Amino acid sequence: MTRKGKTRIVLDLLREVIPAPETELEYRNPFELLVAVMLSAQCTDARVNIVTPELMKRFPTPEVMAEAEADEILEYIRSISYPNSKAKALAVTSRMLVEEFDGKVPNTHAELMRLRGVGRKTANVMMAVAFEEPAFAVDTHVFRVANRIGIVNNAKTPHAVEKGLQRVIPREEWGEAHHLLILHGRYTCTARNPSCSKCPITENCDYFASLQKLPKPLTGLDPKRGKYYSKTSGRYFDQPVTKVDRNGVEQIAEPGTKSMNVFFSKTGETTKRVKDYRV
Ligand code: SF4
Repeated sequence: MTRKGKTRIVLDLLREVIPAPETELEYRNPFELLVAVMLSAQCTDARVNIVTPELMKRFPTPEVMAEAEADEILEYIRSISYPNSKAKALAVTSRMLVEEFDGKVPNTHAELMRLRGVGRKTANVMMAVAFEEPAFAVDTHVFRVANRIGIVNNAKTPHAVEKGLQRVIPREEWGEAHHLLILHGRYTCTARNPSCSKCPITENCDYFASLQKLPKPLTGLDPKRGKYYSKTSGRYFDQPVTKVDRNGVEQIAEPGTKSMNVFFSKTGETTKRVKDYRV
């Protein structure tokens, strides 16, 4: 099956379980959305939604926020991650909006990227959500999910994922697909413990397929003889070496044979790890 065909199936399956694929940030206009997206970097949308009502009540427009010092903004966003740098970015950005953009949030990617604290991802979110222009924002969830499922081909940077997704998803679906992948990553395909047993796309997921290929646990091992057991040599050992497998993943190996067919003697589980993607 082509990557395009696989992506179509995956998005259709996600549409069935995510009926309202849209941002969870609360906002009433482009300025409020810009503030919320800037605050959401390395922070949950739920946490951002807690602070923005009071923040926007005190600084409802770029003009009002432009009058404030960063310290004053900081008082409203202390519970957000990186509050100091975000308060400074909001103060500078609101001044830029007033001085260079007539108090309005610009609606081009290039102009958005000039604002302090606005990177490629934030600019793409603004283009897609505030201005409904085709743009594909890649955050940590989209990056991880797209690579795990295999709808991009081993893309190593958010920009590479963005390009890969734009190739396989029709332009008019970019905004919706962005939210489908984010919400799937936030609630099901989470970074540490993806809920594969509840996932509708196991049959189309490369990561799930690689999990199925891992060796089954061994029974009857004796942990008193060593922390690890090599199935290749039948030996127990305590001090492993590491070896990088063909997928670039560092694996535990037996010191003598360098075999990676190693198990924890206490649990019988394999020590093998499958490739994962985090940013
Ligand atoms: S099967 Fe597992 S790894 Fe694959 S998309 Fe679903 S939750 Fe993520």
